[in-house]
Amino acid sequence: MTGTRMGAAQTYDVVIVGAGFSGLYMLHRLRQLGITARVFEAGPSVGGTWYWNRYPGARVDVESQQYCYTFSPELDAEWAWSERYAPRDELLAYLNHVADRFALRSDIQLDTRVTAAVYDEASRRWTVTTDGGETVVAHFCVMATGCLSVPKESDVPGADTFSGPSWHTGAWPEEGVDFTGKTVAVIGTGSSAVQSIPQIAAQARHVTVFQRTATFSAPARNGPVDPAVVADWAANRARYREEARSTGFGFRAVKPPSGSALDAPPEERTAEYEEHWQHGGLALLGAYTDLLLSPQANATAAEFVRQKIRQVVKDPRVAEKLAPKSYPFGAKRPCVDIAYYETFNRDNVSLVDLGDEPLETVTPAGVKTQAGEYPVDAIVYAIGFDAMTGALNRIDIRGRGGVALKDRWAEGPRTYLGLLVSGFPNLFLVTGPGSPSVLCNMAVAIEQHVEWISDCIGWMGERQAGSIEATSAAQDDWVEHVNAVAQATVYPLANSWYLGANVPGKPRVFMPYIGGFPAYRDKCNAVAASGYEGCEVA
Ligand code: FAD
Ligand code: NAP
Repeated sequence: MTGTRMGAAQTYDVVIVGAGFSGLYMLHRLRQLGITARVFEAGPSVGGTWYWNRYPGARVDVESQQYCYTFSPELDAEWAWSERYAPRDELLAYLNHVADRFALRSDIQLDTRVTAAVYDEASRRWTVTTDGGETVVAHFCVMATGCLSVPKESDVPGADTFSGPSWHTGAWPEEGVDFTGKTVAVIGTGSSAVQSIPQIAAQARHVTVFQRTATFSAPARNGPVDPAVVADWAANRARYREEARSTGFGFRAVKPPSGSALDAPPEERTAEYEEHWQHGGLALLGAYTDLLLSPQANATAAEFVRQKIRQVVKDPRVAEKLAPKSYPFGAKRPCVDIAYYETFNRDNVSLVDLGDEPLETVTPAGVKTQAGEYPVDAIVYAIGFDAMTGALNRIDIRGRGGVALKDRWAEGPRTYLGLLVSGFPNLFLVTGPGSPSVLCNMAVAIEQHVEWISDCIGWMGERQAGSIEATSAAQDDWVEHVNAVAQATVYPLANSWYLGANVPGKPRVFMPYIGGFPAYRDKCNAVAASGYEGCEVA
């Protein structure tokens, strides 16, 4: 164990909370700087998202060549992805390999949930408490707790009355679930549902999908990784990665966007969409520059996807229910699927549109809507996450004057660059609200944050500085900018988890930064180069 003991408490330079993609790299970077760090992870394994989300069909929706660490050429050279979109087990194996390869495990404490982090103004240190009753002291505290790590508690009435088994996709049993011969209800049609429904339907006797809002999904066109793609990446990796970092969403596009969708003649536009559709995955979002800015431009892409759904789904009434009409394409994160719409052509799958027959309650026997009861053997809740603030608000984080972060954020999260919070010195957030985070290839977003934070901690060490804290003025300016940028897009037109709209009672604030990864990175770099403008360093 690194660190030193001060009185009763072990002390470290840094405590890191979470051992997912973010926490692992954070530990590695700090060690390279000779900084002592301890990682606390609530789960029994490293891997974060890729440990917890083991529902059938779970896999990445950004191509594997692009959804991985970029900091180590040796790691690149020794790791080979098997599929264009790696499945969950492979991603978990990759993160375990990283933990072993860089000998990280000795500083990671598993099965340990951080319950509180309290800042002491006199010593300028954080006291961190765990659910095991352990207390450690650290100069800096890095929350690598994940944007999508807290499964939403069921807000479906009667959920606890069901007599059969039920599971949340984000907390799936480690031993798996055998649906053979079972009738199953799936509630939700977001990414987790879109990935799991085809797999469950292939096994179960019958699946009834309860849809509150139809989803836009594009085919992944998954398959074994093409050796030509691997060779191309091996030869051009550094350039391709820089290209990825120079795009708004942090991944390399099929090709640059073709100007405004509204300027293109309809036939040319359809051909453009078709090319992106055939490429698969999230490519369509980048077909034109204004799809996420102009509702009119967006409507052309939305209609293109609806036509695709109508072509695939044989029953026209089911197709119409599956075709999203209430919000712009991309304003909720689009899904990437393997035969999602095709699954509704199966005899053992039916769709219940909760817009037509609102869900009343779960009963001991199944799910009851206004139109009647659907008896089932098992229920899958694919109802999403308390995103972005959920994990942070579940820790009793107290800054200056004993103020709780949860109270400070009662009206919605406020940060400087998604990295720092005024009133909470020496606390860093990885992919916090106000940063591109979930609107970006998160592998790219995480590396940039980890490097910025470790550089900042290193810089503080060189100056023997005691504390760094965002000023409230800088934070106000940043929050205003984040909101202004969001308002200029189609994103606020959907009731999405980006806005907190999925969790009853959560403040409706657009949480991620939609100004694009390059502009954001430039701003962060400029802040660092200026000696942390917008921060008080003491
Ligand atoms: P996480 O992986 O969420 O890890 C956070 C860790 O912190 C967890 O292990 C958690 O147990 C731990 N933790 C939280 N609170 C505490 C506490 N109080 N004490 C101790 N430990 C705590 N992003 C993409 O870019 N592309 C994708 O294709 C993609 N697919 C996804 C699929 C699913 C099913 C989900 C849920 C998310 C997906 N994401 C994707 C987002 C994904 O979360 C990130 O890509 C990335 O894995 C986040 O890594 P992280 O380390 O920041 O957070
Ligand atoms: P989600 O996108 O929030 O979807 C939750 C679904 O459940 C929505 O259809 C929602 O309907 C529905 N729902 C929630 N509460 C409900 C209720 N009380 N009654 C009926 N329906 C309810 O959650 P998710 O699918 O877990 O995905 C979350 C994010 O994780 C994704 O957007 C993505 O960023 C990431 N993810 C990625 C992948 C991948 O492909 N790699 C896979 C899974 C997750 P409404 O839309 O009406 O709220």
